[in-house]
Amino acid sequence: MSSQQLVLKQRALLLDALCGGGSAEPLDCVLDLLLASEVLIWEDYLSIRVAEKPVNSNARHLLDVVYEKGEDASGLLLAAFKQVLPEEQKSELCFGKEYALLEKNRPATATSALLTDRPVLVKKLRDNIDGALDVLMTTGCFTTKDCDGVQLPVYTRSQQVRRLLDQVRFKGETAARTLLKYLDQTKPENKEHKILEETIRFTASPDTLLYQKKLQSSVAAQSHFLSTYGGTGRFSLDDIYTDGLLEVMNGSGETTTLELEDVAGPVGLLNKDADTVLVSGEAGSGKSTLLQRLHLLWAREALLTDIYLLFPFSCRKLNVEHRALSLKELLFLHCCWPDRNQDEVFQFILDHPHLVLFTFDGLDEFKHGFTDEERHCCPTQPVPIPTLLFNLLQGTLMKGVMKVVASRPQAVGPSLKRYLRKEVHLKGFSPGGIDSFVKKQYSDPAMAGRVIESLQGNTSLLSLCHIPVFCWIVTKCHQELLGGEDGIPQTVTDVYLLVLQHFFQRKSSQPQGALRKGWLEQHLDTVLKLGQLAMEGLEASCYVFSGHELQRHVLTEHDINTGFLIYCNDMSVTDSKRYEFLHITLQCFFAALYVILNHSNNRSAIPKLFQPQHRLPSGLSQKCLGHCVNRSVEEDETKMVEKPDLQITAQFVSGLLSLQHRNLLLDCCPAALREHKVKQVVKTLSKAMRRHFKSIPRPVEGEKKSMHAMPGFVWLIKCIYEMQDNSIAQDTMAKLDVEHLKLTYCNIGPVECTALAYVLKHLRNPVGLQLDNNCVGDVGVEQLLPCLHNCHSLYLRNNNITDEGIRKLVEKGVHCERFQKLALFNNKLTDACTQHFAWLMKSKQNFLSLRLGNNNITSQGAEQLAEGLSYNRSLQFLGLWGNHIGDRGAAALANALKNNTAIIWLSLVDNGVGSAGARALAELVSQSKTLEQLWLNKNFISRDGVECLINALKMNSRVKEVWLKGNNLSPEEEEALKKEESRLTF
Ligand code: ADP
Repeated sequence: MSSQQLVLKQRALLLDALCGGGSAEPLDCVLDLLLASEVLIWEDYLSIRVAEKPVNSNARHLLDVVYEKGEDASGLLLAAFKQVLPEEQKSELCFGKEYALLEKNRPATATSALLTDRPVLVKKLRDNIDGALDVLMTTGCFTTKDCDGVQLPVYTRSQQVRRLLDQVRFKGETAARTLLKYLDQTKPENKEHKILEETIRFTASPDTLLYQKKLQSSVAAQSHFLSTYGGTGRFSLDDIYTDGLLEVMNGSGETTTLELEDVAGPVGLLNKDADTVLVSGEAGSGKSTLLQRLHLLWAREALLTDIYLLFPFSCRKLNVEHRALSLKELLFLHCCWPDRNQDEVFQFILDHPHLVLFTFDGLDEFKHGFTDEERHCCPTQPVPIPTLLFNLLQGTLMKGVMKVVASRPQAVGPSLKRYLRKEVHLKGFSPGGIDSFVKKQYSDPAMAGRVIESLQGNTSLLSLCHIPVFCWIVTKCHQELLGGEDGIPQTVTDVYLLVLQHFFQRKSSQPQGALRKGWLEQHLDTVLKLGQLAMEGLEASCYVFSGHELQRHVLTEHDINTGFLIYCNDMSVTDSKRYEFLHITLQCFFAALYVILNHSNNRSAIPKLFQPQHRLPSGLSQKCLGHCVNRSVEEDETKMVEKPDLQITAQFVSGLLSLQHRNLLLDCCPAALREHKVKQVVKTLSKAMRRHFKSIPRPVEGEKKSMHAMPGFVWLIKCIYEMQDNSIAQDTMAKLDVEHLKLTYCNIGPVECTALAYVLKHLRNPVGLQLDNNCVGDVGVEQLLPCLHNCHSLYLRNNNITDEGIRKLVEKGVHCERFQKLALFNNKLTDACTQHFAWLMKSKQNFLSLRLGNNNITSQGAEQLAEGLSYNRSLQFLGLWGNHIGDRGAAALANALKNNTAIIWLSLVDNGVGSAGARALAELVSQSKTLEQLWLNKNFISRDGVECLINALKMNSRVKEVWLKGNNLSPEEEEALKKEESRLTF
């Protein structure tokens, strides 16, 4: 078959390979190669890679363009796919005749070298963007605006690199030469790898080389399969791994999206003297899986190629190590035993810390809170495990070894933060990630399609799927889900009951569906035994159980075979089998079942669970799980940081007590006891909320009464949501009396939005809801809609929201009388959102403030917005800082607003506005009866433009300030113009 036919025939597969992961990276890599091999010319590239369009539409256009170019182009396209795609994806495709992506003759100019060498340059630049920008700035090739344009936080590192290359090409030959010269001097490509190779060549003994190979192969073996699938079929990580959303925040709170290879790289550096990188994320967000992927790729030499030895640790397993160990013993006993010449191998590690990496998974599960009080720096002296671990993290021991630590955020207090090199936030799956994950789960695309469709039809379930572990359960239980007679799951508890049912069904000899009635009662004995193990484990921070422990809890082979417990995937030198729950959230779920179903629980179990700042003291658990608890734990009690496990358990307890599950519990828990427990939960929740509300400070005079959510507020809200009882939500919210509710940097994702809306819809008075710097996304926006009528303002800065989210928001917003202000700074908005805002402007004549800064709106979008604005009589504040509306957009807005009698404040800072735009704005300045402030900093306005503004100001004394810092004016011009008009600020 010809290459052209192959492209046509495999179109769906090729598109899936390019877009299936939800990231634009595969498409960009293919484009790089096609540009380099001259299959595409620059104009093709510009027409294909349109930022405003979705990746799949770009990808379709690429296939069309290449197909049109004929047989050779199609062959080279397939060759590019072959080079870019991972092995497992390649197996599905047929590449036909071999085409070599030939090296072209040396390019004649530097700008053409940017194309022919593009794939290499992208790689080289990844770790050198800052340096390259510095050089381009100091040589005058780039302006600050160019730099800002490249570094927009909405772009991933690779996208920033490509923008840089495109911008340099646009600037011309001098800029291109400057960049190439800089890269030539820094030679970043594989600099580290070269050092590594040379170091190894001269210093590693044959035994060290052998050790490295052994470590590499055991890390590969250990990380090849995903452990959660242990009992339910083996899934290779390659087949199932889906990129999660990774972000870093710089010192000033701006976020940048990262890729896996950036986790240990220089992007997002907070403290260059520290060696510990933190990957933080909620339970189930995919931290362990991400580390596992890093391990696997390292073992295959596909990532972290500058690291010679990688030692993976699990904090939950370190909990069960009670011996004092030296660093040497820790490495060799817990990771990989050197078969020969231990001392020599260890000396190599000591001598080359920069070639070594340690990973610690689950710091939140480590039973000791971090402290930096005890110093220890001797690698051969045995000390207790906490001392060893904490000194490694601080860098007192083995300074220079990079450490990557994964933890839930609650477990990382200020004392540890001081030692962090950077903090990477893992935010679960993007909407595209969910689709991609679901498709990977099923060999039958029709089944995947049905599951995706059913998720799209139930947004609360879809919002849960942003957390990978929930997504996994949902796909595992698709039969129960699609044939669900009990209604589609809404809450996390619903989802976990689904998995419980699924596992019992799987093991049941009865036909499908026979579990329906009384299934919980039928398995009560197993549930209680597992529940007790889970609860006592949580109380003692114990997540790994020996066979002996299971025997003590009378867990039989049959109980274990249900699949909720799996063997520990272990590299340490130990001869006994150990078990853990499939996931920490499942351990919490069993603990919650135990709290509800165990009749002999004491009455204080529930109240204690809802005050989870400190771990529950439990004599019983200390006796039963002796191996997990030792004296130092009790002594450390005062130093402990907040433990989130009990919060998750409390959330499940609330969910199990919801009315919806009353029938299920009926046979297992007497009605009176259930009622009593419900009352206890409602009382403790309401008390905790009241305490929260009481802590709200009185408003400062002239300011709104506002509440900044304290830790625990979101959790309480989630518990209320799990109960699915409107009256509880209503009663609780009746006591909240604030005008502004601030929940910034609170890890609010779609799941939290569902819960927030559920309670906030009951507020008696509207609030301003400030959710800046979270990960709300389009699905979260949709989840918030039920409470929009109770929000006079909505602040959603930096939340990954796209035009689609805006469509839904505006659709509802126009009907919400009290909704008046919206802030969307730094999201992913393009011109496509402005038609919705135009409609909002036309339909809502009491809307006051719209802030759309740092998005991707061009002159077209501004024109569309202006059309709506020309009908509006209420908008007072309009912010478009950092878009690209240019002169045309400025003129359209000026024209729409000049007869407007509401606008007070307009910001067009950093929008590529020149003197023509200023002239149009001068008309607005001269005619407006309300405008007070006009912000035009960081544009291209020159003297004639400013003079128009001065003349306009002379006609209108109402305008108080026009800001013009950073325009095309010399200091002398600024001085002179300022003298002419004091209301100008330069
Ligand atoms: P955490 O460590 O944050 O609690 P895990 O990494 O244990 O979360 O993830 C829980 C489960 O979710 C995994 O066992 C796997 O089934 C699924 N999962 C998590 N991340 C991914 C991913 N990137 N790709 C595919 N599945 C994932």
